[in-house]
Amino acid sequence: MSKDSKDIVIVGAGLIGSSVAMNLARLSKRAVTVLDLDLEGSFSSSELNAGGVRAIWNQPLNAALARHSIAYYETVRDEIGFRQRGYFWMHSRANWEQARKRLASNPHLADLGIEYLTPDEIRKRYGFIDRVDDLGGATFSPKDGLLNPNLLKLHYRAAAREAGVEFVDRSWVRKVRAQEDGSLELDVNVFPSSLSEDEVKSVLVSESEASSISSLGTHVMRARSLVHCTGAWARRFAEGLGKTSPCKAIKRQMSLFECRDVDLTACGMFVDSSGVYFHPEAKYILAGFATPEQAHGYDFEYGGEEFFQNRIWPRLAERSSKFANLKHVTGMAGLYEVSPDMSAVIGRVPGLDRVFEAHSFSGRGAMQSYAAGLALAELIHFGAYRTLEVSALSGTRFEAADRSKWVPEGLLI
Ligand SMILES: Cc1cc2nc3c(=O)[nH]c(=O)nc-3n(C[C@H](O)[C@H](O)[C@H](O)COP(=O)(O)OP(=O)(O)OC[C@H]3O[C@@H](n4cnc5c(N)ncnc54)[C@H](O)[C@@H]3O)c2cc1C
Repeated sequence: MSKDSKDIVIVGAGLIGSSVAMNLARLSKRAVTVLDLDLEGSFSSSELNAGGVRAIWNQPLNAALARHSIAYYETVRDEIGFRQRGYFWMHSRANWEQARKRLASNPHLADLGIEYLTPDEIRKRYGFIDRVDDLGGATFSPKDGLLNPNLLKLHYRAAAREAGVEFVDRSWVRKVRAQEDGSLELDVNVFPSSLSEDEVKSVLVSESEASSISSLGTHVMRARSLVHCTGAWARRFAEGLGKTSPCKAIKRQMSLFECRDVDLTACGMFVDSSGVYFHPEAKYILAGFATPEQAHGYDFEYGGEEFFQNRIWPRLAERSSKFANLKHVTGMAGLYEVSPDMSAVIGRVPGLDRVFEAHSFSGRGAMQSYAAGLALAELIHFGAYRTLEVSALSGTRFEAADRSKWVPEGLLI
């Protein structure tokens, strides 16, 4: 066993850990080290997502985090492939009035130029949407759009590295012990750089610490402060901290398909009232659907042609006659990291003064990553939030028996 001392250690180098690292490095002179089992992130949610970015959320706090992030993405638009081509969200007759009122009354959305369209206007706007009888209306939010999540992560990391942040690969943090002086002692399993993708997956899907893949050994590291950005592994990481977490991982799948009759290349994101969402992806279309009966857990198996034929295609075909003939190409499964109220957990870990957390973005980590990273960096550096007040997202809200402190978000896909 070897021992070394660090100042601030961030566990998890996905979009959130990388954004916290960049923002911390920009604010403070403290040395920052980021640890991850797999810096490449082959199974991280940050590499397996739809890249959608929208400010339209029911909760003002979720809208504010996304809006603040969008303002930043606009400044690095080309570097991260940010295309502000809008979100077109179709609502059933039953949901329309409530959806419209909620968005219209959210003060964080007032100046975004959101359009509210009738079924006739939907058909006129997008000729291929020719089956609208079941729809009450749709919103079009022009400032929303799509980005390349891999490029965004690389942007955060490059800026962080430039400011002196160190990223360490093949390191799995197994346990954390708080010391009497408040500092932390970490048991870090170190794996060889030759670890294959299957071996990485094996460590990540193991429900216990007893993964069948053996490490090179345990390295003991000391840190003055710790930041926990472990995404879908938050529950497992909490156990290593001696805590329990109410957050869970759940599989979400997306299919890539060819559609000869519809060209979406100049469009942004479409969300159908059935729950299917789709957007252009190079010369194909990418569509996702949250299977309602999906069990929680670490599962990366993509359902293939069957998932596409049973879950995606029928819903698209009901919306447009042009979707009658689609050819499945491939697909993927990644993990959503969901909290009980479907809003993120950001703040100090309850009961541990020098441990901070940002995780469980419940399907919106790419679009909130900049502002979430900035907020947490400010809390660590100044001891208080400055730019955005996000204390309502502290994990303490799940400790009380009553749910009055929850931040329930319902505008989900
Ligand atoms: C199918 C799908 C579609 C999505 N679509 C969108 C979308 O359109 N827009 C959007 O904003 N969001 C979307 N999301 C959600 C978004 O991808 C996530 O919210 C975001 O990527 C979370 O980032 P993260 O950094 O918290 O987690 P991750 O990217 O998963 O990173 C966590 C990292 O922590 C590491 N780690 C975990 N535990 C340990 C440990 N003990 N020691 C060392 N390392 C550890 C892991 O290896 C991993 O690299 C989607 C997600 C999925 C699955």
